[in-house]
Amino acid sequence: VKNPITLARLVMTGTENCFFTGDGADQLAARLGMTLVPNVAMITDTELLQFRARRQASAAPAGLGTGTIGAVAIDAGGHLASATSTGGIPDKIKGRVGDTPMYGAGGYADDTFGAGSATGKGENIMRVFLCKRAVEYMAYGHAAGIAAQAALDELAGRIPNPEAGIIVIDAQGHIGAAHTTAAMPVAWINGDGDTQAAMRPDDVDAGAW
Ligand code: ASP
Repeated sequence: VKNPITLARLVMTGTENCFFTGDGADQLAARLGMTLVPNVAMITDTELLQFRARRQASAAPAGLGTGTIGAVAIDAGGHLASATSTGGIPDKIKGRVGDTPMYGAGGYADDTFGAGSATGKGENIMRVFLCKRAVEYMAYGHAAGIAAQAALDELAGRIPNPEAGIIVIDAQGHIGAAHTTAAMPVAWINGDGDTQAAMRPDDVDAGAW
């Protein structure tokens, strides 16, 4: 499907289940009224060019083949949500599963404490269940930004340079983010509807979150 997060929402609202994969997910998507598209239709011209560039370079150029988008949100009823859309890490082996669909690793949401969405090298992120860990820090009473950083520091303490990033939101709607990657563009919409963006969480004005 073109919009897997829309399908994930339909799984939540239209079935009694939580998780579908492979052919069954496609069949369910069709049954729930979504248009199926061939996977090859998801390859953009930019991705194809980057794939070819990686093939020609002796060492993989940094920053090519990334493009994961993660989101966390709170609604007017105080319900929290997390959603992550990814093509996975570049040049992965067929059958490889990353952190993104792994609940607690690449994404997690608990109305009582907080929600998170992660990006980066899934093999590292899943080692500590990064998003669940950040929500646990919020459950211990830490502010969103501190919790994001603490979970990431824990990961970096175990795996040097884990190439990971995380955005979080707490049950009051405060947001935070942390990353070990060179940059991690972030954007946010406050209750007033204003959209703001920064190249790195460190560039965000104090108090904006
Ligand atoms: N976390 C994703 C994966 O490991 C990739 C990414 O976030 O860019 O598949």
